[in-house]
Amino acid sequence: LVVLGIETSCDDTAAAVVRGNGEILSQVVSSQADLLAQYGGVAPKMAEEAHLQVIDQVVQEALDKAKLTERNLSAIAVTIGPGLGLCLRVGVRKARKIAGSFNLPIIGVHHMEAHALVARLNERELQFPFMALLISGGHNLLILARDLGQYIQLGTTIDDAIGEAYDKTAKWLGLDLRRSGGPAIEELAREGNAKSIKFSTPMKQHKDCNFSYAGLKTQVRLAIESENINATIPISSASSEDRRTRADIAASFQRVAVLHLEERCERAIEWALKIEPSVKYLVVSGGVASNQYVRAQLDQVVQRNSLRLVCPPPSLCTDNGVMVAWTGIENFRMGRFDPPPPADEPEDIVYDLRPRWPLGEEYAEGRSEAR
Ligand code: ATP
Ligand code: FE
Repeated sequence: LVVLGIETSCDDTAAAVVRGNGEILSQVVSSQADLLAQYGGVAPKMAEEAHLQVIDQVVQEALDKAKLTERNLSAIAVTIGPGLGLCLRVGVRKARKIAGSFNLPIIGVHHMEAHALVARLNERELQFPFMALLISGGHNLLILARDLGQYIQLGTTIDDAIGEAYDKTAKWLGLDLRRSGGPAIEELAREGNAKSIKFSTPMKQHKDCNFSYAGLKTQVRLAIESENINATIPISSASSEDRRTRADIAASFQRVAVLHLEERCERAIEWALKIEPSVKYLVVSGGVASNQYVRAQLDQVVQRNSLRLVCPPPSLCTDNGVMVAWTGIENFRMGRFDPPPPADEPEDIVYDLRPRWPLGEEYAEGRSEAR
């Protein structure tokens, strides 16, 4: 079994070829980070254009690196949601074109399910049911994975995701945004005193597993204003005193942002064990899961509760094609795939795209337990 995975849901164009046994034959990611830094955010039309420019090349490179041609593939997996419709469309069109020409089955993949399932690629021990905390720029999810395709949503964000808070904090602190904000904050935070600024932890009074990062973002912005930090002066040119203040803010922000994750995970473990007492693992994935401080703190939570933590390597935490290919493999094995599209499919037909696509059912008991 050899599957090509294609991912274009947001700002990275990615493709990878993975074997049924989990062997990664190739992995290619083309990032729009430069564009993002220049324009300060993702504009759908611009992101679509950027995907269109590189998609053919990214897929070709994935095949070349794997030393394969389309003829050697068993199926094609592609992200169909959630994400920006215009962007998803680029990947789906490409996937269907190849699938149509080479008579290959096609698997439509849920981006967040892929973030979770990729943890199973290296960890054969990781069986259902397991818990997953999925933390990225657009999502903040706590789920219980009972089986393939069967998920219970224990918590989600009521406003922003943690990655968005990292990215904004980095921007306001004048950090180098040619790569994403998260790693820049992680690095600067190592120089700072995490207890120097007292940010309050979100949602203390809500006894559920939901998240909120909008309030913390505001607290950070106000702290930056009151310290008179000038974000137009890049950190590389800041005085040593200015740099220390920025590092203190980064460290204090990170401590509270992650404390919020810890508290929610602690409660989610209680909930999950009531539903599935045999749960043994917490998977942490999504871009923010590549953060070493996040991993270390959550490892403590998990150990206190006699569970085990599984974090994919950083290159599989941020958006990538491997997770899409792997989720395709898991579904293909269960007979969940679509037949090859017609070879002459017109390009203007309406594809099955799911820009908004919840992952599983909300945990109904959660509301009463929260009281
Ligand atoms: P989605 O929300 O749809 O899953 P995404 O576009 O946010 O996708 P990801 O690659 O999964 O894409 O996550 C990117 C986010 O992860 C960004 O907000 C980035 O700042 C954050 N991130 C990446 N590395 C780190 C890190 N070391 N520490 C903190 N945050 C990080
Ligand atoms: Fe993602």
